[in-house]
Amino acid sequence: MSTIVLVFYFIIGTAVGSFLNVWSRRLLRGQFPTGRSRCEHCKHVLGFFDLIPLLSFAALRGRCRYCKKPFSWQYPIVEAGTGLLFAALASSQLPTTDYRLLIILAFISLLVASSALIAIFITDISAQAIFDQTLWIAGVAAFFYRLFLKEFNLNELLPDLFTAFLVFLFFLSVRLITKKKGLGEGDPPLGFAAALLVGFPYALVELFLAFVGGGAAATVLVLSGKNKLKDRIAFGPFLVPAVFATIFFGEQIWNWYLGVLGL
Ligand SMILES: [Zn+2]
Repeated sequence: MSTIVLVFYFIIGTAVGSFLNVWSRRLLRGQFPTGRSRCEHCKHVLGFFDLIPLLSFAALRGRCRYCKKPFSWQYPIVEAGTGLLFAALASSQLPTTDYRLLIILAFISLLVASSALIAIFITDISAQAIFDQTLWIAGVAAFFYRLFLKEFNLNELLPDLFTAFLVFLFFLSVRLITKKKGLGEGDPPLGFAAALLVGFPYALVELFLAFVGGGAAATVLVLSGKNKLKDRIAFGPFLVPAVFATIFFGEQIWNWYLGVLGL
C-alpha cells in the first residue's frame, strides 16, 4: 500500500470523523443532522476555516474564534481516530493491485459500517444511548460488506447471518434475565451488526474481547468506588473497539486459540 493512498484515506477519515462528531452530538440533542454548524457556547455560525478537520482545532488552539471558549476535545480525538482507522483499514483490507469492483464495494460498505459504529461509540459512552438510525446503517452496511466479500454466495453468507442472529438472541436473553439492567435496548441489534461485520468464527473472538474489556472496566469501577455492583455500564464502548481489534487481529487470535486447544 503506497503512502499516498494511506494519506488519502487518513484525510477522508478525518472529514468523516468531523461529520460523526456533529451527527452524534445532534442525535443526543434530538436535532436534525443537517444545518449550519454553530459554536456551542456563543451560537456563532462556523465558517469553512473553522471546520477543517484537525487543522482548525490546532490553528485556533481548541478555542472558538468568536467567543474564545474552548471546544470539546472530542472533536480532534474523533477526527484523528477516524482518520487513523480508515488508513489502517485500507492498509489491511485493500489489495495493492487487482482492484475488482466487488472489493471496492466491500471496502466502502466496511467504511460506512465502521463510521456508524464510531457514532454508536460516541453516543453510548457519553449518554448511554444508542440511536436506531446508527444501528440500521451499521447493520445494513455490515450485511452488504459480507455479501460483497462472499461474492453473493449465499451458502457462505448463511453461517455469518446465523452467528449474528445467535448473538442477537444471546444479548436479548441477557437483557431479559437481568431485567434490563445487564444490557441496554440497543445492545442486541448492535451485537447483531457487530457479529455480522466480522462473520463466523471471528464473532466469538469479538465477544470474548468485549466481555473481557467490559468485565475489567466494571471491576475497576466497582473496586474504586465509582460504581456500585448494580450500576449498568454501557456495553457499546467495549463492543465497538472489540470489532476493530477483531478486524485487525481476529485471525491471529483465533489461530492462537486453536493452537492452545491443540487443534
Ligand atoms: Zn463561540
